[in-house]
Amino acid sequence: MKNTILLILLSTLLSCVTIKVETPILSDVEKSLYYLASDELEGRKTGTDGIEKAAVFIENIFKENKIKPYFKTYRDSFNLKEIIGYNIVGYLEGTDKNLKNEFVILGAHYDHIGKAKEVNGDVIANGANDDASGTVAVLEWAKYFSKANNNKRSILFTLYDAEEMGLKGSEHLAKKLKAAHLNIYTMINFEMIGVARATGETMAYITGYEMSNMAEKLNTYANNEIIGFLPQAKTYNLFKRSDNYPFYNEFKIPAQAISTFDFTNFEYYHHVDDEADKMDLKHMTNFINKMIPALQGMINAPTKEITIINE
Ligand SMILES: [Zn+2]
Repeated sequence: MKNTILLILLSTLLSCVTIKVETPILSDVEKSLYYLASDELEGRKTGTDGIEKAAVFIENIFKENKIKPYFKTYRDSFNLKEIIGYNIVGYLEGTDKNLKNEFVILGAHYDHIGKAKEVNGDVIANGANDDASGTVAVLEWAKYFSKANNNKRSILFTLYDAEEMGLKGSEHLAKKLKAAHLNIYTMINFEMIGVARATGETMAYITGYEMSNMAEKLNTYANNEIIGFLPQAKTYNLFKRSDNYPFYNEFKIPAQAISTFDFTNFEYYHHVDDEADKMDLKHMTNFINKMIPALQGMINAPTKEITIINE
């Protein structure tokens, strides 16, 4: 009898102990960012040897972290005249037998523009903020969620090629998944998260703010006011200017971009000085970590709580 009670007590105790999953750390963020934005990758222009190195780097991180290829390989390839582009698509199956049929897509573009106007002999546009920063964030979440193993919905970790050529990679993947009737709940694209906003501002903002309750819900899940509204995002219609847009266009789901670039905190957009050493690694790591409970809440919500607001 005593043994039974002891056994029950012990098993109750064990079930209460949650294994702590390592959260993203600065040195990992730094390592990936410095590689992706290095001169060796020559500005990651679509169709070059430089972007090929970036693609292999991303595939290796997926492999090492048990993220599976969603298609036959990690590559979703497409043609742009004589050039071949590759989106890299990793898959983490949901843990809930019903909710796993619904997908959350997290993405960023890993391509950049290659070269830009020479400054002091430098012609390589390294694209650290645009968008190695978003790429690193998606890779860190892939590592985290793979270890945590508590994503009820399935997740696609998507790194796009040819964004800089007019959202060609994301358009290709969105059309392909639409043809396959994939049940996508939400898509979030991360663009330029490498520099912090001024104190007093929300850490990040979302494009297409008023078209859904996504910002409000993510903040609720995080129990933290991380994401706000940026007037310039609306003025310049940033919602339509990055890889989330093709997903909205095809699926009419909440598909939006989150960024911490606010037109006042970074002067090197498409400039050779968009380099790794201009990035605020502390801010990046902080942002990546703060977003985890927000993403977790979205991925595990019992129903599709984030919805388009029809006016
Ligand atoms: Zn970009």
